Amino acid sequence: MERRLPRLPAQRRGRGLLATRHRLHPVAGPLPAPIRRLRRPVLRFAPSPNGRLHRGHAYSALLNAAIARRLGGRLLLRIEDIDPVRSRPALVAAITHDLAWLGLRFDGPVRRQSEHLPAYRAALADLAARGLAYPCFCSRSAIATAALAAGDPVPRDPDGTPLYPGTCRTLPAPEIAARRSAGAPHTWRLDIARALAASGSLAYGAFDCEGQEWEVPADPARWGDAVIARRDVPTSYHLAVVHDDAAQGITHVVRGQDLEAATDLHRLLQRLLGLPTPRYHHHALIRDPAGEKLAKSRGSQSLQDLRDAGVTPGAVRAGLGFA
Ligand SMILES: [Zn+2]
Repeated sequence: MERRLPRLPAQRRGRGLLATRHRLHPVAGPLPAPIRRLRRPVLRFAPSPNGRLHRGHAYSALLNAAIARRLGGRLLLRIEDIDPVRSRPALVAAITHDLAWLGLRFDGPVRRQSEHLPAYRAALADLAARGLAYPCFCSRSAIATAALAAGDPVPRDPDGTPLYPGTCRTLPAPEIAARRSAGAPHTWRLDIARALAASGSLAYGAFDCEGQEWEVPADPARWGDAVIARRDVPTSYHLAVVHDDAAQGITHVVRGQDLEAATDLHRLLQRLLGLPTPRYHHHALIRDPAGEKLAKSRGSQSLQDLRDAGVTPGAVRAGLGFA
């Protein structure tokens, strides 16, 4: 029975999650609340439909499935399609097809973020009403100019974007009202200083494929006044993902290391919005032979390309370390 389960890479060393599942509970700190330990684990794979899936997506999806199976948990599918320009409906069907081709099955209904914009708008309004978020009318070039003047080297967030210098944080209320009623385009930014004062110190639980757990201190200050709602939709990736993880009852988040720094910001939003915090595993990224992260823009082969070239799903799984 056990031999037929896909193996996690760690199991090659004979120390898989199955062998250590009794250790899958917090070893220190207050997270998560005891009641959550009694719940059946829930994981999710959450692609954005703005390109075809490649081997990096396949690895993340297969790892989620393997850990869900080890934990006796459920695996949900979420389509992160808040981007009205880049998200293409035809790609949702293509993603579903690719995942089925890989042999993946998901529990429950598929959640599409584009169907939940009112819920994100309500969460944003809650933060704004408490003085934790403010509208920002700055253009991209105005922010770049102001950031250049803010220091040398320019302070940047973990993604390399210059930190917002806070131009709109102190706009007088009548001016904000006038600009908004005139229809001036604006994003919404978190007031990080006020948010941190409201949240206190933060940490989250991390876990690895061998069932070890530990606590990670969160440092959301390094994101500055992050954008939590875009000009065109009442949310950003950050706000929508914490809302949805709570709405779907996600207990274990398994995603790439490229999102590890963002978890600090997610932990802050969870605290501010009174949402539960899942445990996190940030896996290594699959890279091309040149060591670059896979991406359509770099010409990485999609699963469709591999399928067209006669590669079998079994070969894709085996190449990524799954039986
Ligand atoms: Zn601004």
